[in-house]
Amino acid sequence: MKVLFIYPNINAQVGFNYGLAFISAVLKKHGHTTRLLNLNEKLYKLPSDEEIVKYIRDYAPGLIGMSVVTPQYPTALRTARLIKKNFPDIPIVIGGVHTTLVPDEVMKEDCFDYACTGEGEEAVLELVTKKERGEDTSAILNIWSRTNEGIKQNSVRSFVDLSKLPMKDYELFDLQHMINKEDGWVRLMGSRGCPFRCSYCFNHKIVDRYKDDLSATDVGYIRRHCLEDVLDEIKYLLRTYRDIKTFIFDDDIFTFDKKFLRAFCTEYPKLTEVPFVVNGHVRAFDEERAKMLKEGGCSIIKFGLESGSERIRRDVLHRPMSNEEIVRAFEAAHKFGLHTSAFVMIGLPYETREDILATIELLSRIRPGRFRWAIFFPFPRTDAYEMSLKGGYINFEKMRELKNFTEASCLDFGPEHNLFISKLQKTFPWYVNTHSENSPGNIYSFLTRAVEDMPPDKWEETKDKILPVDRELSLCLNKAGCKHYSFRYNDFTAVRSDWGDGKGE
Ligand code: SF4
Repeated sequence: MKVLFIYPNINAQVGFNYGLAFISAVLKKHGHTTRLLNLNEKLYKLPSDEEIVKYIRDYAPGLIGMSVVTPQYPTALRTARLIKKNFPDIPIVIGGVHTTLVPDEVMKEDCFDYACTGEGEEAVLELVTKKERGEDTSAILNIWSRTNEGIKQNSVRSFVDLSKLPMKDYELFDLQHMINKEDGWVRLMGSRGCPFRCSYCFNHKIVDRYKDDLSATDVGYIRRHCLEDVLDEIKYLLRTYRDIKTFIFDDDIFTFDKKFLRAFCTEYPKLTEVPFVVNGHVRAFDEERAKMLKEGGCSIIKFGLESGSERIRRDVLHRPMSNEEIVRAFEAAHKFGLHTSAFVMIGLPYETREDILATIELLSRIRPGRFRWAIFFPFPRTDAYEMSLKGGYINFEKMRELKNFTEASCLDFGPEHNLFISKLQKTFPWYVNTHSENSPGNIYSFLTRAVEDMPPDKWEETKDKILPVDRELSLCLNKAGCKHYSFRYNDFTAVRSDWGDGKGE
């Protein structure tokens, strides 16, 4: 069967969808044909409705599949409605994290014939096989389906055995084009799952869903591809594609399994000198791991801190770790010459101005090589969503309109705090510079005070002029040899001025 995937990733960074790449590989292994309509304006000009209809008419797929996280859902819904109107007989299956969290909401929309909850490799293969044979498709595990009797809600099946999967179908994504657009960065993932239960992340809800459906206490969520498979995949990529400059591992926590980390960092440098980037967790990081990573060729280690307030991390984010543990992890990474990256969020439920200032102070204390900030978004049905709902914070109209996590908040804190978040989102590095030792803090302190004094209408006029001011100032400070953070790559990442090679996600 011909299967068309649609990845509705508009108004976002260039993205690689591991789920679609694996499902495509499994389908191809079983003789099916796949194609991808990758909707991302940074990669391709976005097609008009007429062009989408023509594309589907020309390809004539037997099934259309989409995979979405919550901000991508409105585009998926709009596109599915367009397709159903023009091709009522082509079934559409939607999957991804959003669908797994709210399959009932998704299936209220007539344009979706099936909702794939949980992992899709085996479920979509079974759906395609049954469709092709003209068999009943109403009882496929993981798949909710629309039947004459209503929506059939099927349980999830056990997690897939990663050792039985073929390698991801990189060609589905036209990888060379992505490499060219992404300055040589290539994404990889060597494991699935995370042992933590942060309230704002989908992981705990997925585990709960599997525990409920399978009546099991341990559902085997955390799985790893064996080292040979990871290395083989890297060899394949190096052999097949040009101009790869960095591998970036999207594993939730690459540093968790020390034995694997040691083996990987021993074998990787035998293959290539291309640097790699990983996610760590401060509770699964120490000097030994830092040394292994440095010797293995790691260039950047990224840590999610989310907040500098221990109260917010513990009570709201369910991410218990002390500021001292954070400081120690960054010191360990810096001692061995790793470039560090810190992720934080602002606009959290129950967060005060003092909590936000604690985040700024923590960043100025640990001095990461770079940091990235996002505005909290409550993923439906996560614990953090329920907290936001209970606290009366969610503005549902704003939530429906939001397209990403970097531009605005869909939580309402009252006019004063809303304005502070809006200002902070546009000037975050200036606040960190204000608090940092050895940086020209008085200049930034003057700037942040000027921003804070602006009434809403003046701020609206000014906010889009921040980036050019930051650029000019940064050039002058660089000439004067003053260390500071400035915006780089986008308007939600700041890089320390003494990190000069200009490469980054
Ligand atoms: S550590 Fe990261 S991946 Fe794991 S649950 Fe928390 S946010 Fe999710």
